[in-house]
Amino acid sequence: MVHFVGAGPGAPDLITLRGAELLKTADVVIYAGSLVNPAVLALARPDCAVYNSAEMTLEQVLAVMFQAEAEGKITVRLHTGDPCLYGAIREQMDALDEKGIPYDDTPGVSSFCGAAAALGAEYTLPGVSQSVIITRLAGRTPVPEAENLASLAKHGASMALFLSSGMLEQVQAELLQGAYTPDTPAALVYKATWPDEKTVRCTVGTLAEAGRREGIRKTALVLVGGFLGNGYERSKLYDPSFTTEFRKGTP
Ligand code: SAH
Repeated sequence: MVHFVGAGPGAPDLITLRGAELLKTADVVIYAGSLVNPAVLALARPDCAVYNSAEMTLEQVLAVMFQAEAEGKITVRLHTGDPCLYGAIREQMDALDEKGIPYDDTPGVSSFCGAAAALGAEYTLPGVSQSVIITRLAGRTPVPEAENLASLAKHGASMALFLSSGMLEQVQAELLQGAYTPDTPAALVYKATWPDEKTVRCTVGTLAEAGRREGIRKTALVLVGGFLGNGYERSKLYDPSFTTEFRKGTP
């Protein structure tokens, strides 16, 4: 059996209880060493075999899983944040399906949630934005043309950019081709929830400069949108005059 597990964004106590339990029982752990906090591995048994997938190909990862399965062992495949975002889990799952090897998936706290927490921010502020665009800038790895950043920027929605903090000049230029202006609030969140977490508030017009000044090039999210500013409307849900399924409003 293979358990895909989200390790969370960094702080070792942000893994789920289920994820921690699976890690404790694992015979084999394959972790995404470029981003998973090694402190999370302290949960594994001392005799657990640990592999760092940052140094492995898909074929090598699968070979470890197949071998473990043949020996009746339990494998945990530990991904950073939540496995469902930029985790490359689908190709692993399809290969396991082909061999008839059972697996399951335990979610984790994605870094875009850890980054919002670090800033005390809400992506879905009433009167500002009710959508979050999770995307990345095309780099060495392509993005489908219909999803290029400039076109997604037309919505002016709250945006969390993964895998893009090394290309801030281009991020800034493409965002400005959309609905964002040089004054639109933005932030860089480096290593959200790690001990050396760093948050930098700036604007779309100063993103590249802020990255240069703070030396942020990787392991960071770029957050953009009015949700990082001051204006918003209060919620209907908690408005005294608004009736919900659970509470009668007073006129
Ligand atoms: N599955 C992960 C994302 C993996 S892609 C998740 O749900 O968070 C790797 C990218 O995620 C990095 O380039 C960076 O943009 C972002 N990232 C991962 N951990 C981060 C953290 N603690 N702080 C800020 N960004 C992080």
